[in-house]
This record gives sequence, C-alpha cells and structure tokens, in this order.
Amino acid sequence: MNDGAGSSRKKRVFSGMQPSGEAHLGNYLGALSRWVDMQDDFDCIWCIVDDHAITAGGDPAELPGHVFDLAVSYVAVGLDPERAIIFVQSDVHQHTELAWLFNAVTPVGDLERMTQFKDKSQRFESVPAGILNYPILQAADILVYKSDAVPVGEDQKQHIELTRDIARKFNAAYGDTFPEPEPLIGRAGRILGLDGDAKMSKSLGNTVPILSEPDEIWERVRTAVTDPQRVRRDDPGRPEVCNVFALHGHFGDAALVEDVATQCRAATRGCVDCKRILSENISKRFAPFRARAAELKAKPTLVREILDDGANRARAIAEETLREVRERMGLDWRRGVPNG
Ligand code: ADP
Repeated sequence: MNDGAGSSRKKRVFSGMQPSGEAHLGNYLGALSRWVDMQDDFDCIWCIVDDHAITAGGDPAELPGHVFDLAVSYVAVGLDPERAIIFVQSDVHQHTELAWLFNAVTPVGDLERMTQFKDKSQRFESVPAGILNYPILQAADILVYKSDAVPVGEDQKQHIELTRDIARKFNAAYGDTFPEPEPLIGRAGRILGLDGDAKMSKSLGNTVPILSEPDEIWERVRTAVTDPQRVRRDDPGRPEVCNVFALHGHFGDAALVEDVATQCRAATRGCVDCKRILSENISKRFAPFRARAAELKAKPTLVREILDDGANRARAIAEETLREVRERMGLDWRRGVPNG
C-alpha cells in the first residue's frame, strides 16, 4: 500500500487459532499454509487465542500445554517470529478491554443472529454469555491492531462482517478510528473430517493432526469414510463423493489425482491401498514440520522467548489504540480535573 508520500506501508493482517487441541490438516490447508505465504507481503500478527478457548469450557489444567503445543505448531509450519508477531492473546489485556468498550456499540440482535452462536448455543442448557459475546472479542482482536485484512476460513466470514459493522458504528459514534477490515477467504474451502461428513475440527475428533508420526497418520487415515456404495473391493467407486479423493487433491500432483480417480472408477485399486497413498503423501508433506517441532520441543525457552517478545511488540501497538479509544470515549477522567 502506498500512502502517496513516497513511503509505502504493508497492509496489516491479523489471525488466530484456538489452543483447544492439536492443530490439524484442516487448520493447515485452511489457515496456516496461507499465513506462511503472506509473511513477505503483509505486516502479520498471528495470535493464539486462549481467551476465546475458555468459552469452549475445556480443562484449565490442560490449557497452558495446548498453548505451548500450538506455538510449536505455528513455528514448525513456518510462521516466522522474525517476520511476524506471534503471541498469546491473554498476554495483551488490551484485547479484552477493547471488547468491553465495543459492547457499547454492538446490538444484542446482531450477536444473536450469528450462525455460530445459533449452532453452539444448542449445546448448552444455560448458554454462557461468552458464547454470545465471542464475536465482540474477535472484533477487538482484529481492530486493536487496526488490521486491514483477516485471512480466515469461510466459516468466519459472518464474524468479520460483524467486525466491520462494529468499526463503522464506533467511527460514527466517536469519530474516525478504525479501518473496516476485509476478510481474505482461502481457496481450500472447508476441509471435511475423516468421517466425510462434518467439518474437520479439533472438537469433533475427526482430524489428522499436523505433527502426528507417520504410523499415527496411517491409524487415522485408515478409518476415513469413503464412497458408502463401494462395499466390496471390486465395486466401482465414485471419486466425486469420496472425501479421501478430495484430500488426494491437496496432497498429490495432477497425475496422481487422475490415476486415483481412474483406478477407483475401474475398481482396480481398493480403498485401503488408496488411503495408504494418501497417508504417505500427508506424512511426506508434514515431515519437515515434525522435525522442526521436535527441535522446538527440546528448546522450550526459545518458544517462551518468541511468545514473550511477540506479546511485547503486540502490546505496544494495542496500547496505542486503547489510548486513542479511551480518550474518544471520555475515559480519561484527568481531563475533567480543573487546573490548580
Ligand atoms: P477448530 O474448528 O479445529 O477448533 P479453529 O476454530 O481454531 O479450528 O480455526 C482456526 C483456523 O482454521 C480458522 O481460520 C478456520 O477457518 C480454519 N479451519 C478450521 N477448521 C477448518 C477446516 N475443516 N477447513 C478449513 N479451514 C479450517
């Protein structure tokens, strides 16, 4: 982006992931691989959103370990602390402070019509307010850095629309402060889980974790649901309805994908052999990540330093925004004390 004054400023992007379990192949294709590619062209901020994770009601004793594991995954896949800010949300309290202030401009009706709220609230007898207010914190995560864009999956598009509404409403009420960030929706779309039915998701146990060893990857991929009409090995299969075939498209070249489709239709290769090829290709693609993760796990101090340094850099930007916001909202009471 050029500001017209001869200097140029990279567009800023923010995105995050919940530390609610092992990062998986859907996270990689839908989010992490894109984030890695963006690091040269954008000013990137990658967050581990633990304040969000508490709304899922996991075991507090496990949360710190999940944060460490996700930090290892971030760096292992290629998020680079030299080129991006990598940090943990709860280290930068300005996120939650801004979320509270955004309550002032966010209609409850807007929160209630969010698809994710409707889905998630069904799982509770008494719905925690955090499930309803989740998108306000998400808006604060993004806007506290005045981000220009947010790389997310299709599932998050509605929340980014709400973030834009919140920015617009805040600007109208208190003066021009925030940009309206663009969602950058990835081409990978929604990766289905090994059940071949629901979105691949940490909470559903239908995943292939990125850092699994080859034999663990095989244990998972072996269970993948294929074309339900292909009962016996010599039944011709339908690649177009098979999730294993869809996954081959992400891990094999064009020649392999064509071969898989042809052999499936002709029943010349069985599903188990087909899954074996997929499992090997996934293992191969993720091999460098496993190696890097092993190095990082052996150097926990390095991981801590990356996150501490990231939090310091993030906090400096976030506090600048909060100072401006507090002033615009009249939360600087010292201005009201007469001189003397
Ligand atoms: P999960 O549902 O596994 O808990 P998150 O909600 O933490 O994953 O999502 C982190 C990022 O990964 C988001 O940008 C989201 O859009 C992306 N993502 C998660 N699951 C998938 C999937 N199955 N397919 C594509 N992208 C996904």
